[in-house]
Amino acid sequence: MTFLVTGGAGFIGSAVIRELIQNTPHRVINVDKLTYAGNLESLTEIEDNQRYTFIEADICDADKMAAVLKEYQPNIIMHLAAESHVDRSIDGPAEFIQTNIVGTFNLLNTAKTYWLELADELKKQFRFHHISTDEVYGDLHGTDDLFTESTSYAPSSPYSASKASSDHLVRAWNRTYDFPVVVTNCSNNYGPFHFPEKLIPLTILNALEGEPLPIYGAGTQIRDWLYVEDHARALIKVATQGVIGETYNIGGHNEKQNIEVVNSICAILEELKPTKPAGLNNYADLITFVTDRPGHDLRYAIDARKIDKELGWTPQESFDSGLRKTVEWYLANKTWWQRVRSGQYQGERLGQL
Ligand code: NAD
Repeated sequence: MTFLVTGGAGFIGSAVIRELIQNTPHRVINVDKLTYAGNLESLTEIEDNQRYTFIEADICDADKMAAVLKEYQPNIIMHLAAESHVDRSIDGPAEFIQTNIVGTFNLLNTAKTYWLELADELKKQFRFHHISTDEVYGDLHGTDDLFTESTSYAPSSPYSASKASSDHLVRAWNRTYDFPVVVTNCSNNYGPFHFPEKLIPLTILNALEGEPLPIYGAGTQIRDWLYVEDHARALIKVATQGVIGETYNIGGHNEKQNIEVVNSICAILEELKPTKPAGLNNYADLITFVTDRPGHDLRYAIDARKIDKELGWTPQESFDSGLRKTVEWYLANKTWWQRVRSGQYQGERLGQL
């Protein structure tokens, strides 16, 4: 089959593409605008594979998207392209509205036109898989509840509101036009090739460089962490075996406070990289509490029983094994993150270096 993956140069999209190329026989078309978050250096392992094609395009460009669909005739669209960083959505929400809402609307419309023109067999096989977040459900503060597929939406940030909006559009296209969609809502991911503005890579890299480890508020926010390769495997399962019109929640059964995550990283680094920057005794001494993010949700936690029961997916990594692998990856892949931190990964692409 041919998969069209939007946002395939991002953190999760690149994990999905590596998994599809390395562990399945499928063909992959990666459509990505290459914003600051898109990095083709996350795909060097598979970029020469004959089954892989990269197209630089904006999902908001309807003509371009229609031309790509016509030329490559995908059986499955996995839609991951998005603006994804909550802090950026607070400082500048416009891009989030544009890509996450208008872009998803545009892709739905273009894909629906393409789907309607497919021959019967291909039409039956076609799926539009929308990849979303547990942040659409809002906050579980003060309860032991878990987010299920029927939890009401109550987004708190411009990011989660834009994702919630895109989920509603996708569901409406199914209900109104019978357009064959599946939706997944996943908890926080971590792992290799994660852009260093996010908590886990930021903590690892700042610790290695002797820089402060910023923690919002008291660090008591709870997230349910999932290793990115487990997410990629879950997504491929849903894209190929999920029931049309259904939503599947994906989570790691790993609820941790942010402060616990940062302390665990410091402990792993003490073991794997005991030689520290000059003057530093313990990595944990770098922990610095900073003013909390406005509207910060205290707790997210996923009930992932449906995808386990109906599609037979469970995560392979525990938080301990996944976090250790992640720290080891950043220690072994200095060139990748140094080029991200210095901006070289973008400069060369734009022909500026
Ligand atoms: P990311 O920011 O790392 O990557 C997003 C990718 O989309 C980038 O390669 C970027 O260049 C591309 N992109 C952005 N705007 C585009 C546009 N207009 N047209 C084409 N491409 C565009 O994001 P991620 O962490 O890999 O997340 C992928 C998806 O998964 C998002 O939809 C996000 O909401 C969702 N999600 C992420 C997490 C997480 O923990 N990271 C958890 C649950 C769900």
